[in-house]
Amino acid sequence: MTKEMNILLKNIPFLRHDQYNFIKFQIKNILHAYATTKDEGVIYTVKLSSLDKIFSLFTNLNESQVALLSKVVDIEEHYQADSLLTELKSYVIPFRNTTEKTITKLFPKVKKLKAPDLKTIDFREISYIGWYDIRSERKFLVADYNGELIGIQGTFMKSIKGICSLCNSYEEVGLFTANVRSGKETYTNRGNYICADSDNCNQNLTSLEKLKKFIELLSN
Ligand SMILES: [Zn+2]
Repeated sequence: MTKEMNILLKNIPFLRHDQYNFIKFQIKNILHAYATTKDEGVIYTVKLSSLDKIFSLFTNLNESQVALLSKVVDIEEHYQADSLLTELKSYVIPFRNTTEKTITKLFPKVKKLKAPDLKTIDFREISYIGWYDIRSERKFLVADYNGELIGIQGTFMKSIKGICSLCNSYEEVGLFTANVRSGKETYTNRGNYICADSDNCNQNLTSLEKLKKFIELLSN
């Protein structure tokens, strides 16, 4: 590979948002190790195990991507963690281009759909778009499923703390229930508990596995 090609490849985003979050959690673990022990052997083991877990997320990393991710083992202080996270964020693949019009099309039966203000969303910080519409008392989710944008809507009953079936974290959740087609002309209600705060949920997501299962269960 020529040097020019290497430089070109170097700046191509290759991290999904959930993978970025996963790396962030591993970095937190490393900082936690520094805060709780002075044993360099223990810290070294934590670092290697973190790096191992990070590499296991990927199959085809090039040389510069390996070098970039390997920087986690050099972290000793918070400022180094922050600076690496800023660098890594520039490699995050943004959520696919979505406009208000695209969103409206995903929910053709909803009249006067109130889409969220997309200008306020950092598309590198989300794995899905989720919002609650007070007027219709419904929650809406838009996610990328196998390269296609999918819209899911349902009623939302806010409840207490529990495990979210999207991010798998213990948070303020609510029961999301969607009316799903179960046969040719039959429909059934299916529900699951998800975070009330979708921004927070996106911050917690370290894998897309549960989000995918949720879509499979609740989309028509
Ligand atoms: Zn969640």
